[in-house]
Amino acid sequence: MNELVSSQYVIEAIYLIASALFILSLKWMSSPTTARHGVWAGELGMLLAVAGTLLHHGIVDYTWVIVGLVLGTGIGIPLGFVQMTAVPQRTALSHAFGALCVTLVGTAEYYLQTPNVPRFTMAVLSAEVILGGLTFTGSLMAAGKLQEILPQRPITYKGQNVVNLGILGLAVGLAVYLVLHPGATHLFPLMVGIAVLFGVLLIIPIGGADMPTVISLLNSYAGLSAAAMGFVLNNKLLIIAGALDGSSGLILSVIMSKAMNRSFTNVLFGGFGQDQTIAGKQEAKPVRTATAEEAAAILSAANKVVIVPGYGMAVAQAQHKVRELYDSLTKRGVDVRFAIHPVAGRMPGHMNVLLAEADIPYDRLMDMEDINSDFPQTDVALVIGANDVTNPAARNDTASPIYGMPILDVDKARTVMVIKRGMSPGFAGIDNPLYYLDHTLMLFGDAKGFVGNIVRELTGGGH
Ligand code: NAP
Repeated sequence: MNELVSSQYVIEAIYLIASALFILSLKWMSSPTTARHGVWAGELGMLLAVAGTLLHHGIVDYTWVIVGLVLGTGIGIPLGFVQMTAVPQRTALSHAFGALCVTLVGTAEYYLQTPNVPRFTMAVLSAEVILGGLTFTGSLMAAGKLQEILPQRPITYKGQNVVNLGILGLAVGLAVYLVLHPGATHLFPLMVGIAVLFGVLLIIPIGGADMPTVISLLNSYAGLSAAAMGFVLNNKLLIIAGALDGSSGLILSVIMSKAMNRSFTNVLFGGFGQDQTIAGKQEAKPVRTATAEEAAAILSAANKVVIVPGYGMAVAQAQHKVRELYDSLTKRGVDVRFAIHPVAGRMPGHMNVLLAEADIPYDRLMDMEDINSDFPQTDVALVIGANDVTNPAARNDTASPIYGMPILDVDKARTVMVIKRGMSPGFAGIDNPLYYLDHTLMLFGDAKGFVGNIVRELTGGGH
């Protein structure tokens, strides 16, 4: 008995340390200078959480635990090696796995406790399996859309929102009935089934364009369902970790929606992304172009340069060449900084991760709100594979689909140079008036190749 009590103390102490590490992890991850510590704290916290759970006296046989660990590790390791650009769908898959696990645990717990399930437990259990069920299929759908296994286009029909809300209402109605009559075992699978169906229906009307925001929202649901599971299993660590996950996912969705000037309801019910083909129809307008040699001359004559990276830099994996460009310009006494838009690229923090990988000093990375007032004093704004996040139509064209989205005011710089392969639009599928301005020079080419050519010119190897 004494041994049992003392091992319980050990487990609680381990859980307490793990909880503190999770909180520190989130705190540290909010700044690039401490982000690496944040990752380590999170990993250590998770290791302690798993180790603490394995010490539980309730475990009489480790066979299935080991099978689960081997299976999970076997799936997890290859998932860790996906390309950076595939991280949003990889994240969606991990949410799907987590949510499936929560739903299965909730279901097992219900059948273990029925018919004597206390009302509070039944209410939390229902929330757990409804959120878990819809997050499972919703996340799978989101991953499928991002990987382009499923059509990206939103599929909408009249009365869709009413149908969807009605289905969700039915699941909640069943939950209420089960709280009052927990012995109605035949209704439990029905409730779970409806939640699973709702997850599919929830994602169908949302375009591929909004998937990263939706994934972050599903992250929040997965966290809340895990917190509910913590109440059911009386596990404080799960409650804390789930609540942290739930709230951080929600905060991230809000930040992303704000950065795209979209409201939550607009993301969830808007059917955005239907017009993505319109850009192909615009007629060709003249633009001014320049060579790598000319670009190198303009850059080396500048005092202040701001580099604006975007999705194209990520696809081309040009970050190391960009680092070389930064080095050679800095050596010539040019002040070079980087302007980071919150939704540049395809996932939050995408540009920060790539530039950190190339060892660009953190104090050179500027957030949008800090750098925007500096563009009028900037000699050259060098846009590398960014498009939508620099589109002035968001500021001054009320008819534009991205009107109101906060952008980097690169058009206010004395000279703008844009590296991209052609005149193709970006993620929003719309034309960018920036390219036709008198002080804009288009540098057509692959980001990695073109930046490499500029570096060669600057370092004297061009001839
Ligand atoms: P973007 O608007 O998608 O534009 C990227 C540009 O890169 C394209 O116009 C493309 O033009 C160019 N490009 C592609 N491959 C290239 C290569 N190898 N070399 C050079 N250029 C290349 O990108 P962004 O300005 O970073 O904006 C991000 C967009 O994603 C925003 O609309 C944002 O709302 C959306 N979004 C972001 C997130 C997030 O979390 N970051 C989430 C959801 C949605 P060419 O084909 O002509 O080369």
